[in-house]
Amino acid sequence: MIHVKQLQKNFGRAHILRGIDCDIEESEVVCVIGPSGSGKSTFLRCLNGLEEASGGEILVDGIKVNDPHIDLNAMRAGVGMVFQRFNLFPHMSVLDNLIMAPMQVKKMSKAQAVLVAEKLLQKVGLLDKIDAFPNQLSGGQQQRVAIARALAMEPKVMLFDEPTSALDPELVGEVLAVMKALAEEGMTMVVVTHEMAFAREVADRVFFIDQGVIMEQGPPEQVLGSPHNERTRDFLCKVL
Ligand code: ADP
Ligand code: MG
Repeated sequence: MIHVKQLQKNFGRAHILRGIDCDIEESEVVCVIGPSGSGKSTFLRCLNGLEEASGGEILVDGIKVNDPHIDLNAMRAGVGMVFQRFNLFPHMSVLDNLIMAPMQVKKMSKAQAVLVAEKLLQKVGLLDKIDAFPNQLSGGQQQRVAIARALAMEPKVMLFDEPTSALDPELVGEVLAVMKALAEEGMTMVVVTHEMAFAREVADRVFFIDQGVIMEQGPPEQVLGSPHNERTRDFLCKVL
């Protein structure tokens, strides 16, 4: 589903991604861990074309993301992304947040888009908030709406960039539960997270990114439980 070869990214003279290589299968869940500033967000943003790669190759569902000729909007429709915060359009109701992109990008009728939105809100447990505005929701509820909104585009892949880092601790679980359910349904997911318990339980593989490369990768029990790489061990000592 995702093929990345020698991905490079420079910001000016700063060489941030220094040759990322990976292949991610359909239905696979990959959790990405690593120190702050190591390039985790930049990696995700390159995967959906929010950042232009400086070199290398990225294919998502067979589409060459870093080809200047591709239709980025069409490509992004297939890749959902949930950020740490500021996901929702604050001036729109929950329903309007969910139906806008399907109507504009997928040319779905309003009636159809509303049906899809209702189904997804049901799934994330927030159908009763359909007419609420984002500022009337808790952070956890906002993130669940953000996940539903991304799913409304029927993506092939979902990218999550620290989706629970900005939440009060008691709200983290409800968002992780929605993500876990999605993983169990077979969604292909790449999740940057500090939630090691989630990574252990849900990830098929964990990538440890440091200084712009995947320093170590493998099943969660190996990378988190008995890391081979000294830098992985150092990092885990700090966060666990
Ligand atoms: P992480 O998500 O692992 O904390 P990031 O991918 O956000 O790391 O950032 C990696 C490095 O790239 C950091 O040093 C950051 O300052 C730099 N960086 C990220 N985005 C930009 C940008 N748009 N312009 C310049 N530097 C950037
Ligand atoms: Mg980041």
